[in-house]
Amino acid sequence: PTTIVDELGIALSNFADAATGAFTPTLRLGVTGLSRAGKTIFITALVHNLLAGGRLPGFAPLAEGRFIGARLAEYPDATIPRFAYEQHLEALSGKTPTWPESTRRVSQLRIVLKYQSKNWYSGLRGPTTLNLDIVDYPGEWLLDLPLLGLSFAEWSAEALERARRPGSGKEAGPFLKLLDDIDPNKDANDPDAERLAAAFTEYLRRSREHGALSTLPPGRFLLPGDLEGSPALTFAPLPPSPRGMRHGSLHAMLENRYEAYKDRVVRPFFRDHFARLDRQIVLVDTLRALNAGPAAVADLETALTAVLGCFRQGETNPLLRPFVRKIDRILFAATKADHVHHTSHDRLEAILNRLVANAGKRARFAGADVKPIALAGIRATREGSIVEDGETLPTIIGTPIAGEQLDGVTYDGKTEIALFPGDLPERPDSLFEDGAPVSLNFLRFTPPQKLDRNANGDVVLPHIRFDRALDYLLGDWLA
Ligand code: GDP
Repeated sequence: PTTIVDELGIALSNFADAATGAFTPTLRLGVTGLSRAGKTIFITALVHNLLAGGRLPGFAPLAEGRFIGARLAEYPDATIPRFAYEQHLEALSGKTPTWPESTRRVSQLRIVLKYQSKNWYSGLRGPTTLNLDIVDYPGEWLLDLPLLGLSFAEWSAEALERARRPGSGKEAGPFLKLLDDIDPNKDANDPDAERLAAAFTEYLRRSREHGALSTLPPGRFLLPGDLEGSPALTFAPLPPSPRGMRHGSLHAMLENRYEAYKDRVVRPFFRDHFARLDRQIVLVDTLRALNAGPAAVADLETALTAVLGCFRQGETNPLLRPFVRKIDRILFAATKADHVHHTSHDRLEAILNRLVANAGKRARFAGADVKPIALAGIRATREGSIVEDGETLPTIIGTPIAGEQLDGVTYDGKTEIALFPGDLPERPDSLFEDGAPVSLNFLRFTPPQKLDRNANGDVVLPHIRFDRALDYLLGDWLA
């Protein structure tokens, strides 16, 4: 089987890092998650909290008074897009705060951290520095990794089997119909390839809208990044031809493009970005899946297992291991925890823990520590309570985004409301049982409209458990 390490050749770029980083160690932190999971918000909050010294009592280097400060630095590789931190912070802290634009491709940012080591002999040399390189990339791209080990025929068989499942009928119908109408043995031609690719993409998009997560690859079909419209994205799965594949046929053309996608798109992404990470945080919009019911929850579990499978593949070839960094900690974070009352935060963590449990055991076996956390990078709600029929219900208070609807009411984006979001189950297993869907009241809220400022005049971003996440991801490197 093909693994990332086999695929790597030798990631020569790591040599360069070793050369320039001889005096300043570099921690490469990957931030991923499916579209709208909260990557942009998490990274913006991360950078701002480090630069401005946010309220982070659970982040030991800061709480112990050893954290001296941080500054943004030039990223060593000028060809990689830079994470647009300034624009994102501006959107969040401007006159009318709005949520910034989400991640659509890979981007990076370097931040240099200065701290006083706890360690007496390092401490003697005065303050120590660490380069923190943040790598933001779509989770959809990560889920492409297994394609490296699949031939076109194998991938087609899997993809078509999924498309033909009874549950996929509505979404996959038009694509399957088109497959029936086009003879893959006809001469290769672009219009047919484009029609098939468009119908297949539409099927993926619609299943995605209906909550499916694990049926996504190829990831670039949903998030093409810079490849929009390129031939490498113009293919679709095909059934095996009974008469064998003819040279010059449509079938041969699509197979070539599938191989090109693996060679030119998937492989370089893993070599240049993924294989060089030290730590990883995977953001998961767990609440959205819970809200969609047991099928979505089961599907999320499958997707998370696939994600963890990707992290395990770095483990093989002993000759290449020195050139590949090894991820030693993976933090799974249920984002947007401010959508539920704090009395539910532990339950949210327990649910995420249950979702990654099976996969997590395997990752631990492969040497990585896996931890779940419930957090909000930027907290958009406050808490309150209402009394209903003599019962006190915990509520969250926030301003729903204009156009949000609940119980027949459409909100105007200006009105603050108190909402009882519902209770998360105490027993995570109950989520997989039919007939017991959690019914949660979800609304998207505007970001906080009035932000406090610290003594230096920097805005302070409110959060939930964000400091604990930082401590897990960075704390020991700043010890
Ligand atoms: P990305 O696609 O993973 O980069 O997702 P974003 O970071 O852009 O987040 C998508 C949307 O989720 C945002 O526009 C917000 O509406 C919402 N969101 C993300 N993080 C939070 C959070 O901590 N609290 C709340 N209330 N909403 C959030």
